[in-house]
Amino acid sequence: MKKLFYLFVFVTTSVVFSQTDKQDSTQIKKFYNASLLNGKSYQWLTHLTQDIGGRLSGSANAQKAVEWGKNELEKLGLNKVWLQPVMVPHWERGTKEEAYIVTKKGRVTAPICALGGSVATKGRNGLMAEVIEVQSVKEVEALGEKVRGKIVFYNRPMQADLIRTFRAYGGAVGQRFNGARVAGKHGAVGAIVRSMNLRLDDYPHTGVMSYGDTPDAQKIPTAAISTLASERLHKELQVNPNTRFYFKQSCKTFPDAPSFNVIGELTGSTFPDEYIVVGGHLDSWDLAEGAQDDGAGIVQSMEVLRLFKETGYRPKRSIRVVLFMNEENGSRGGKEYARIAEEKKENHIVALESDAGGFTPRGFGFNCNDVNYAQILKWKPLFEPYLIHVFARGGGGSDVGHLNTDDNVIFGLQPDSQRYFDFHHTAIDKLDAVNKRELELGAATMASMLYLFDKYGIK
Ligand SMILES: [Zn+2]
Repeated sequence: MKKLFYLFVFVTTSVVFSQTDKQDSTQIKKFYNASLLNGKSYQWLTHLTQDIGGRLSGSANAQKAVEWGKNELEKLGLNKVWLQPVMVPHWERGTKEEAYIVTKKGRVTAPICALGGSVATKGRNGLMAEVIEVQSVKEVEALGEKVRGKIVFYNRPMQADLIRTFRAYGGAVGQRFNGARVAGKHGAVGAIVRSMNLRLDDYPHTGVMSYGDTPDAQKIPTAAISTLASERLHKELQVNPNTRFYFKQSCKTFPDAPSFNVIGELTGSTFPDEYIVVGGHLDSWDLAEGAQDDGAGIVQSMEVLRLFKETGYRPKRSIRVVLFMNEENGSRGGKEYARIAEEKKENHIVALESDAGGFTPRGFGFNCNDVNYAQILKWKPLFEPYLIHVFARGGGGSDVGHLNTDDNVIFGLQPDSQRYFDFHHTAIDKLDAVNKRELELGAATMASMLYLFDKYGIK
């Protein structure tokens, strides 16, 4: 009898479980179908990249993107759409940079671009000086006075044997961020940095840099140089250690400018005070259209809410899409969103960011406690039909990261990253760098995971 009872319990609970799974897999299938057959993400991305274009913080285009985002979210029939004011840095590149290597045979043009936040080269004539090549900021510290009067050339490549290319980026980007500050401290007159790119090509990659608390008069100009030109300059220095480099740039920092995060909300039916956020960053660098970085993440995040509406799923918790402003050169939007959330004591249980490109989704990186991670792993089989298999610890994103607490779940979409740094912060980060189908798969993957968090909550 007892045995029969246990058998009964086992059968009924497994029926309940399998029905739940069935419901979940049916809803997830609906998300993928809607995204792939009738998605809006690519159409949005086309507008954002082609009709608006590059949208660096403080620019007229960034403002256009804010208005566009608000307008599109309003069309989705969400419960609320609003703008959250935030002051952002305003830096402009000015006229196109010029650079060349002075070789025995003459000038060899070098593709460069000023790093975000850099000062211009002084005067009308640009800057010419001997080059000293280094592998790291540490090396410059050790060289000290030997860099005086020179252009420091940071040439440490991204590490090619790291399969997770964001780790390779993380391992090299310190040269870009701190290079000019440290070189300037030791009397260098300029700093050029090998582009953050695993490929050899002639597209320089911009990105943010910082002078820390360096006084204005001691700030030296800094630019990224293409990977191919880095190789050329390196070879030239092998032959002639006194090789000179010339560059000219006219970039400038203006006073901070007013801007906005764009926010839309589907208010929860059962737990409206529990918030789930999905977002990317609306600003982009100015060299191209910001398609992979991060137009893709913006339209995927918008698509998540649209997919909830289109498939008729009414969330139990409040789902917010946030189009964050100023991730690239200040993260002011991410910080301000978190500050207001804290001020209003809003309980953000989950936040998902898409800011790793619009390539084929592979999975997610989770920043959460063990209990929540155990729950997440139980959902993994639901994603197998879609070839989503990376459920890693660690991750999140630079905008949603500010919402991190000891017991919430902050996570990031992890698309295939092998080609991301071909485009990142370059003049070729355009619409044609993004594949429509891959973009749509990413949006459906994000919606599916947020659906599960909405339905089951966190532990
Ligand atoms: Zn980005």
